[in-house]
Amino acid sequence: MWPPTYPGTLDIIYRRLREKSLKVDLCTGEVYSLNGKWRKLTHTVCGRNGYHYPSVTIYRFYYRWEHGKKVRVCRRRKIAVHKLVWIAAYGPIPRGYQVHHKDLDRMNPELTNLELLTIEDHHDRHNAVVGVPHADAIW
Ligand SMILES: [Zn+2]
Repeated sequence: MWPPTYPGTLDIIYRRLREKSLKVDLCTGEVYSLNGKWRKLTHTVCGRNGYHYPSVTIYRFYYRWEHGKKVRVCRRRKIAVHKLVWIAAYGPIPRGYQVHHKDLDRMNPELTNLELLTIEDHHDRHNAVVGVPHADAIW
């Protein structure tokens, strides 16, 4: 097949959850990765909008041909833990939906605090809260 298609970050996550080399604690939002031994991946990052939130960095590797040579490519992408918690519990987030923090606290990714909303409903929900403007998709 040419050009080849490479698995995206989400494909890697689905596969690693299936293979149980990625573990998500649905209560604390701690994410663990098995690579020889279990390692904690969750760390707090500061988003473009200035809010802190727990996140993990997922690495993916693939090969591609460059000038007749096989080159190993490494890509990494951050994913917010609340999305990972939702995915670990219920599977992929459908297109057009976002995962909302019911208590509006981005540092609280536990499953009971999360809710799946359409983008439109999500905007409405945030616009209804005075003093908490909608920023971007990490809510
Ligand atoms: Zn939200």
